[in-house]
Amino acid sequence: MKSIEFKNVSKRYEDVSVIEDLNMTIEQGEFVVLVGPSGCGKSTTLRMIAGLESITDGDLMIGDVRANDLAPKDRDLAMVFQSYALYPHMTVRENIGFGLKIRKMPQAEIDKKVEEVAEPLGLSQLLERKPKALSGGQRQRVALGRAIVRNPSVFLFDEPLSNLDAELRVQMRAEISKLHRQLKTTSIYVTHDQIEAMTMGDKIAVLNKGHIMQFGSPMELYNFPKNTFVAGFIGTPPMNLMKVKVSDHGKTLTHASFQIKTPSRWREATEKFDGGEVILGIRPEKIGLLHEHDDWDVPAHIFGKLEMVETLGHEAIVHLICDGNKPGSGDKILAKIKPKNSPTMGLLGEHYEVTFDTRAIHLFDPNTEHRLPESRFDSQTSQEQESPTAKQNYVLSLESQGN
Ligand code: ADP
Ligand code: MG
Repeated sequence: MKSIEFKNVSKRYEDVSVIEDLNMTIEQGEFVVLVGPSGCGKSTTLRMIAGLESITDGDLMIGDVRANDLAPKDRDLAMVFQSYALYPHMTVRENIGFGLKIRKMPQAEIDKKVEEVAEPLGLSQLLERKPKALSGGQRQRVALGRAIVRNPSVFLFDEPLSNLDAELRVQMRAEISKLHRQLKTTSIYVTHDQIEAMTMGDKIAVLNKGHIMQFGSPMELYNFPKNTFVAGFIGTPPMNLMKVKVSDHGKTLTHASFQIKTPSRWREATEKFDGGEVILGIRPEKIGLLHEHDDWDVPAHIFGKLEMVETLGHEAIVHLICDGNKPGSGDKILAKIKPKNSPTMGLLGEHYEVTFDTRAIHLFDPNTEHRLPESRFDSQTSQEQESPTAKQNYVLSLESQGN
């Protein structure tokens, strides 16, 4: 197991910059997911670790060694691709054992290791088959087996599940996570699928146009997205984002379809935007019907025109057009409600009311798109508390002691 560190790493093709000033440390044994839209530089980053792509600037450390100029075979890592890259003329046994054979390991030892690896992957009965006689999922397991058998210090995965159907993808996702818990090998996993990222990663790096937008645990990214890009990327459906007017010294936020009191933890930040605008974010799961959420202490109402209802069995997603009195100017807002409360199709085009939990909002600077700073003491809970919290009480008592 080895750590991986990028220090100010850049990658350019002639005058095209693909990765710019990347800084990231992947600790020993961590499972880190690189996620982002197509073309953002995920594969390039992975291929630089593998040594398949040169590094233009900066340092790549693998363990304690600067690896920029290390040959791929000397990096002690194994890579699994989307295309399984199996040898078609070799059996499963030969495919898995190939890396050991070229290292001149004795055949009996190879057989033993191949069988050990095949067992947990469910391949024991398939060892004499050729790849063409396997399903997609089985082929991907062979590719995994070939990586595992070499017992590398680092695993690299480049969208390994993209060719599989939805059901198999969910199953393989769980199997790869289980393998990681057993082997505890440092792993870097590339995907464009944020659900894969959320379910598999100890940490997630969200990439956009060659820059890291945020690097943190799945819950950090979900609860405290650092910018509107991450807010709009993580979550299904993603967070609703809309501009709101700031007035009353930052204390009031107004949208065409609602007006709220700024939660106290944001007031210092919104005061600076008084008379202007900020971006308000609210997740679809924090908007619903009032009677479904009796724990929403400070609810606010949104009126919109019902545009569409998607019924997914366990939830229904309601699409509202919220433009107040200015038709055509408004935002589309998505809310999740219980399917049994789903409006009938006859209500499409009608006015419809939903409620959201004002404590659950996120605020962003409209110019930089960065998250606005929250006041210190309740930023960890992301919960608005109008009455003094335990921490606030603690501060008050400290203050009174100081006097
Ligand atoms: P991802 O894996 O996130 O989809 P890649 O890392 O494959 O993205 O590519 C990142 C960017 O680098 C893309 O815009 C791609 O067009 C560009 N790119 C990749 N290889 C080359 C190359 N050999 N020459 C020029 N540009 C390249
Ligand atoms: Mg790619």
